[in-house]
Amino acid sequence: MKPAPFAWHRPRTVDEALELLARHGEDAKLLAGGQSLVPLMNLRMVKPTALIDLNAVPELAGVRRGERGLTIGAMTRQAALLADDTVARHAPLIAKALRHVGHVQTRSRGTIGGSLAHADPAAELPLVMVALNAVITAKSVRGTRDIRAREFFRDVLTTALAADELILAIHVAAAPAGARTSFREYARRHGDFAIAAAAAQRQPDGGGIAAAVGGVAAAPHLCASMSGIDAGPVDRAHLDALARREVEAIEPLSDHQAAGEYRRRLGALALAEALEEVLQ
Ligand code: FAD
Repeated sequence: MKPAPFAWHRPRTVDEALELLARHGEDAKLLAGGQSLVPLMNLRMVKPTALIDLNAVPELAGVRRGERGLTIGAMTRQAALLADDTVARHAPLIAKALRHVGHVQTRSRGTIGGSLAHADPAAELPLVMVALNAVITAKSVRGTRDIRAREFFRDVLTTALAADELILAIHVAAAPAGARTSFREYARRHGDFAIAAAAAQRQPDGGGIAAAVGGVAAAPHLCASMSGIDAGPVDRAHLDALARREVEAIEPLSDHQAAGEYRRRLGALALAEALEEVLQ
């Protein structure tokens, strides 16, 4: 199928894009890498009459290291992030997750902003942003605001973004030296969306563990009870019990890919494996 008719706009600056968003409101959609939006348009599941193409807005791409840790422009391609030394060194959990995001072809076009705004429950980058307590900066003609990733993902394909807002950048605290990270995923094939996945980062010197589970519920699930795990000897049976108890609290999604209970079991398994890896 082909998309419903639309007007294509190619702004050169963020302000120009915001002005177009304000003018076209709910009838507009922002185009980033197109790896999720274009299939939805071709299936006529979304029929924007104004497509605002962000690919000519250079200020939206790139990775910077600053006092807020890493600042990643929304239009930064997933492939560029995977190849970026600063990301590998200071946000290793993002690099580990990206290896599971789609394929070389989709990562060469797909962007971090598009992945977060699309908010697929099984997407890896939203899961990592929740685990790392990242901050998403959104802007509209009305102003700029920061949204914690843990408040950003609301439901399936639903975020806290207003219709006239654009994600400018994502801010991630730099992982301290000695931090241990793990990303574990169960999917039908490598490169498919996760059936269930878990992301964990352990601060050095027993500084606590941040962990989250994705693909099970409508949005990534922060595993708050994991942060207090003693950095003691690794007892897998104990971790399995903790993980099962943690995912029991999740209302799982059932679809053609997997029944909810199966997602939940795989989520607990992925979580226990991720914890075991960071506690080793
Ligand atoms: P687009 O498709 O251009 O846009 C997606 C949505 O985000 C649209 O609603 C758009 O309006 C909005 N948007 C884009 N940029 C902004 C912004 N800056 N501010 C506000 N809204 C914005 N993803 C995974 O996570 N894991 C996978 O395993 C995976 N496998 C895939 C396999 C295939 C074959 C394909 C085609 C895609 C796959 N994807 C997967 C999706 C891919 O990662 C997409 O890149 C991603 O979901 C959307 O990014 P995009 O830049 O292409 O955004």
